[in-house]
Amino acid sequence: MSLLRRLAVLPLLFCLVATVHCRRAAGGDSDPVEREAEAALVAYLRIDTSNPPGNETSGARFLQQLLAKEGIDAKLIGADPNRQSLYARLPSGTNEKALVLLHHIDVVPVVAAEWTKPAFAGIRSGGYIWGRGALDVKSLGIAELMAFVDLKRRHLPLRRDVIFLAVADEEMGGLHGCKEILEQNPELFANTGFVLNEGGYNDTIVDHVSFWGIEVQAKVPLWLRITMKGAAGHSASPPDDGGALAKLVRTLEALQRIPTPYRLTPAVMRSFHAAGKARQDERGEVLRGIAEPVDTARVDRVLSPGYRSLLRETIAITRIAGGNTINALPANAVADVDIRLLPDETTAPMIEKVKKALAPDGGGLQILLAAEPVPDSPSDTPLFRTLAAAMTKFEPDSIVGPIVTAGTTDSRYFRARGIVAYGIAPFKVNYYDADTVHGNDERIRARFFSEGVRLMRTIVDDFCAAPAQEKRPAR
Ligand SMILES: [Zn+2]
Repeated sequence: MSLLRRLAVLPLLFCLVATVHCRRAAGGDSDPVEREAEAALVAYLRIDTSNPPGNETSGARFLQQLLAKEGIDAKLIGADPNRQSLYARLPSGTNEKALVLLHHIDVVPVVAAEWTKPAFAGIRSGGYIWGRGALDVKSLGIAELMAFVDLKRRHLPLRRDVIFLAVADEEMGGLHGCKEILEQNPELFANTGFVLNEGGYNDTIVDHVSFWGIEVQAKVPLWLRITMKGAAGHSASPPDDGGALAKLVRTLEALQRIPTPYRLTPAVMRSFHAAGKARQDERGEVLRGIAEPVDTARVDRVLSPGYRSLLRETIAITRIAGGNTINALPANAVADVDIRLLPDETTAPMIEKVKKALAPDGGGLQILLAAEPVPDSPSDTPLFRTLAAAMTKFEPDSIVGPIVTAGTTDSRYFRARGIVAYGIAPFKVNYYDADTVHGNDERIRARFFSEGVRLMRTIVDDFCAAPAQEKRPAR
């Protein structure tokens, strides 16, 4: 989940200021829980859970051991022994709807040669913690784990059950993680009402948050693989149709020509209006004033691709393969296409359009992932109010609002079951660091991590610990 963080585009001037400021501020933290959290994150980043293949079981076992030290019994779940997820529950003895603290164990693969530091070494350097997963999303996992453990350590009476859930396979669509777990083990989620997950973002200016976006809905992913066959042979005498690769290129051009006009959905409108309140520039004006019919020319001129992607379907070619030498035609070629539909769209109409684009050259179509639209999570809930109160207390001049994101997360599996799921970003992230998500040199500022751990503990404590008067033993 990287795209929306890129929206936090700020003047380059801040880059230098932030660097100097953070060098000054990068001293050690005195809070033992935050030191413990940092050590846990470093150790977690050293476990390579690149997906594919995943190997999430090693990450799940690591978390299981941390919980076992606290006397919390966590179990591994999942059909594939190499791809286990982890589940633990703190019981409250009440009937209030339970809260799930969710994160994914897997990370996207790295191109090691393009990193300036080893990606799975958990290196601390220059005020940062480096490694694949530092932002997406092992940092959130450890913050959730510390908040969960904190409740147990303090022997607090709980007003609701709290579930810690670390899942496999989010980065490839969650079929071997969240989807499978919810289908195979529904009893584990009895009386669950709320989920906190990745997917939110915040606008961080130097080291202050101006806007906290709580994700309530995401676009619908449709992942396709296109295969093309052609005559193999010497490329000095190609066939009239050009062969498999030429046919594939023509087909991909046709796909790119599928019209994707702007359309404003109600949740996106609310999201833009909320985000616009935190900006004083022309972009803020356009966001606050967005309405149907969309002013296409102005939106094209003022809004970044990240915002515009929330107003239309997007079709991105992400992988092309075929051929192995200059003078031979391959018999097969393949391309992967990542399509994101507007949050209220079903996949069938787009699949029909793709089939039409494939028809002239006879390409084959494989559907890798076809999600369904799910209702957005409402923002008039006690959990949203708890988040907003904690975030604005943490950063007094900030604004909190519901947002829609272009990326996808496992939250959709819970929303489909009527469970309120919010994507949150408890860590401040400057835009130049946000770009390392799914990219090279992924890293989190150590100080921002510690602060986010503190914020997460506040949120979970406020929502799950019983109020003070209920904590006294009955006499
Ligand atoms: Zn993620």
